[in-house]
Amino acid sequence: MRTVRTVGDLRAALREPRPAGHTIGLVPTMGALHDGHISLIRAARTANDLVVVSLFVNPAQFDDAGDLARYPRDEARDAALAAAAGTDLLFAPPAGEVYPDGFATTVHVAGLTETLEGAHRGVAHFDGVATVVTKLLTMVGPDVAYFGQKDAQQLAVIRRLVRDLDLPLHIEACPTVREPDGLALSSRNVHLAGADRERALALKRGLDAATAAFEAGERDAAAIARAGRAAMERLGVEPEYLAVVSPDDLRPVRTIAADVLVAVAARVGPTRLIDNTILRLGAWAQTRPPGAGEAAPAALAG
Ligand code: AMP
Repeated sequence: MRTVRTVGDLRAALREPRPAGHTIGLVPTMGALHDGHISLIRAARTANDLVVVSLFVNPAQFDDAGDLARYPRDEARDAALAAAAGTDLLFAPPAGEVYPDGFATTVHVAGLTETLEGAHRGVAHFDGVATVVTKLLTMVGPDVAYFGQKDAQQLAVIRRLVRDLDLPLHIEACPTVREPDGLALSSRNVHLAGADRERALALKRGLDAATAAFEAGERDAAAIARAGRAAMERLGVEPEYLAVVSPDDLRPVRTIAADVLVAVAARVGPTRLIDNTILRLGAWAQTRPPGAGEAAPAALAG
C-alpha cells in the first residue's frame, strides 16, 4: 500500500491503472478504522482492481468544535488496518490540500439535509459532507464508491448529489456492522465509558422494538415509533429523534405502504450516537387486499 497526500500524487498514481481499464473502488473514511470500515474496504477489494481509501477528518462537517477536537486519530494504526484489508492507495491529505486558502464552494443538497441529523446538527453538517465527498469523488474518479448503511441519511444525500451532478460512478451501500450485543460500530464508541456502554444499546433496542411491532402487523408509523421510544426509555435513554421516513427522500411516513427507514439518534452521556434499520414490506404485503389480516406470515417475520 502506498500513502499519498496531495491531489497531484493521487492523480499520478491513478494515471496508468485507469486507461488500462482497471476498475477503481473508493472508500472514504475519517479514520479511526473499525470493522465497519474494514467491511467497506473488503467489499471494494472483492469488486475492483484498485482500492483507494481516503483518510480525512473533515473539519467542515463538524458542528461542534469539541467533537472535532476529541475525534480519535491514529494514522499509523489506520494505515496498517487499511493495508491488511487490501487497500492499494491510502489518500491522507492535510486540511490545506482539501481546503486551500480562498476555498469558497459548497455543495448543498436541498431538502434531504434539513431533516433528522440536519435538524439537530444544522444543515452545515451535510453541506460539509456533500462538499468533501464531491471533492473526493472528483479527485479519485472511482468506478464505485462504498458507504455504510449506518449513516443512512448521508447515503441518501450522496446518492442524490451523484445523480444531480451526473457523476459517473456507482454508489454501493454496505450493511451496518455491529458488536455481538448489537451496538453499531462507530468511531465514537471509544468515548462510551462505564454504564454508558450498556445504555448505548438503547438505540438498537429501540430499532428492534420498532421492527417487532412492524413484524406483528403494525403499519401505523406513529405506533411503531412509540414502541421504539418506549424500549429506549426502559434503558433510560431519550432519543433526539426516532423517525419513520422514506429511505430515498427522508420524508415522514404516516402509514407504511412501502419499505421505510427507521432512523434514531440519542445522546448517551457525552456521546451522540445514530443508528437505523429498514423495514421491508415484502411483495406479499404490498399486494395484500385491504383487511386481509395484519400478521405477517412466518416466512416474512424472521
Ligand atoms: P466515517 O469514518 O465515520 O466517516 O465512516 C466512513 C464510512 O464507514 C461511512 O460510509 C460510514 O457509513 C461507514 N461506517 C461507519 N460505521 C459503520 C458500521 N458500523 N458498519 C458499516 N459501515 C460503517
